[in-house]
Amino acid sequence: MLMTFVLPTLDYAYSALEPHIDARTMEIHHSKHHQWYTNKVNAALEWTDLASETNMSFILTHLDQLPEDKRQAVTNNGGWWLNHTIFWSIMWPNAGWTPTGKLAEMIDASFGSFNSFKEQFSTKAATLFGSGWARLCQDNEWNLVLKRTSFQNNPVMVGLHPLMGIDVWEHAYYLNYQNKRPDYIAAWFNVVDWDKVSERLQ
Ligand code: MN
Repeated sequence: MLMTFVLPTLDYAYSALEPHIDARTMEIHHSKHHQWYTNKVNAALEWTDLASETNMSFILTHLDQLPEDKRQAVTNNGGWWLNHTIFWSIMWPNAGWTPTGKLAEMIDASFGSFNSFKEQFSTKAATLFGSGWARLCQDNEWNLVLKRTSFQNNPVMVGLHPLMGIDVWEHAYYLNYQNKRPDYIAAWFNVVDWDKVSERLQ
């Protein structure tokens, strides 16, 4: 069985993001959901021309190199793998920080202020219909843009580089927040590690 992609190890405990994200949600989201989609993307890539490719962004932007009947499975399961790998990496316990340096300047230039960015981002995330993600991305000209994607599509698939983003599928918050998605979004900002987001700038 192909094992190119593995479940990424978290640098913090499942309980570390409480009270903003509860331990049970983290444990299920990471150890059950992410493991499942990791297995599924490996299975979908097995015996294809991209079976030895280790860069998921490359795979998601070269789907035409896969047999037609594998493309949707790789999009769904590979997108799942990449989205969540980024998601875990940009969170940190009680980060509660605001952006600094170059990223802070770029956010101010693009959105007016950090608070204005946060408001626009939160509205996008709260009003996304159904399952998907809201993200801050960089475009080809290095501008910052807000981008929503449905299901497990990733912005790399439309030529954008994701810097940070929130999972607003119900599995990401339902145990603790039920239907109150805006409360989850507001709380999530307390665990965004802006240093990690800055490191993703291109
Ligand atoms: Mn998720």
